[in-house]
Amino acid sequence: MRATLEPATTPPSGRGFTDVVLRPAAVAKAFLGEGHPLETIAVPGVALAENDVLIAVELSTICGSDVHTVHGRRPAPVPLVLGHESVGRVVAIGSAGAHAVDGAPLRLGDRVVWSVTVSCGSCDRCERGLTQKCRDLGKYGHERIGAHRELTGGFASHVQLRRGTTIVRVPEALPAAALAPASCATATAWAAVARAAQVRDLEDARVRIHGAGLVGLTAAAIAAEQGARVEISDPNPLRRALAARFGAREEPDAVRPEGPDVVIEASGHAVPAALSEVATGGVVVLVGSVFPADPVPLDAESIVRRVVTVAGVHNYTGSELADAVGFLAGRGRAYPFADAVGVVRPLSELDAALAEAAAPAAPLRVGVVAR
Ligand SMILES: [Zn+2]
Ligand SMILES: [Zn+2]
Repeated sequence: MRATLEPATTPPSGRGFTDVVLRPAAVAKAFLGEGHPLETIAVPGVALAENDVLIAVELSTICGSDVHTVHGRRPAPVPLVLGHESVGRVVAIGSAGAHAVDGAPLRLGDRVVWSVTVSCGSCDRCERGLTQKCRDLGKYGHERIGAHRELTGGFASHVQLRRGTTIVRVPEALPAAALAPASCATATAWAAVARAAQVRDLEDARVRIHGAGLVGLTAAAIAAEQGARVEISDPNPLRRALAARFGAREEPDAVRPEGPDVVIEASGHAVPAALSEVATGGVVVLVGSVFPADPVPLDAESIVRRVVTVAGVHNYTGSELADAVGFLAGRGRAYPFADAVGVVRPLSELDAALAEAAAPAAPLRVGVVAR
């Protein structure tokens, strides 16, 4: 079932629904529009549809797109509970149960992450595997809240997951700070690297990443683990200094005059450079251009003559989220993902936390906890 975008006139409780009373009430922070302080809303109970899963949030992190929304650089339907990078625990399940991505039934107490997108699974796009572009797409942290549908974003004590969400069980041993970004930064980085690997085997490939934000750094670690020689460019020296810790070489490869085999543009600001520098037969993955920006010139003849592949990647599929979590739980443990969360603030201080995340020397992520 889709989130109700207009207030429902009748409560959804009835056949198939499970009423869950929350004491103390769940709390969520509603964004009312640029320049308005966030509003705290209390949700004393939820009606779970048959396959819904209620999550108690352990930690959410503030993604760059939350900051853009709050600053009015990205249109959003309000009121809205932002936040789409979270890890939490299953505290209630609808009457028909729900399954993790691996097919196993979810149980109370399971620690999980979940996809930002909610897909129908049966439209033409879902059927060909493009679930993140479902014709009836829902997105956590992006939808106007409605009556009986308040817990739709991560900046809350609880999130109500609905059928069509990919839910991935996560290991107890991994820090929450490494897991919360899985459902945006990590999975998006995984999808970007996977897209490049469809065109160019990454073993010994030269990979250049533009943007040392969390997507870029994560893509660096993933590509390095697949045998690539990775370099990261970013105008911010603080961010650039992190690159070596995420598998990037400290100095660009001076030996080979030809450009990189793979360019992952994760900043949104270096698209012309990405298109012009890629080597013949190479691939450019555009993943950072998710905000309105001026069009850039495209030298089509050069793209054609160099036999360059240009690919757009937006969000990810459920199996890519599962693979991203598998990476964090496996070879990704060698990288300091948990250090991305430089500071954790209580939900009651979310306004200040969002300002902190927007500051020039902000950590890669600011964390938010409901207590
Ligand atoms: Zn995000
Ligand atoms: Zn669909």
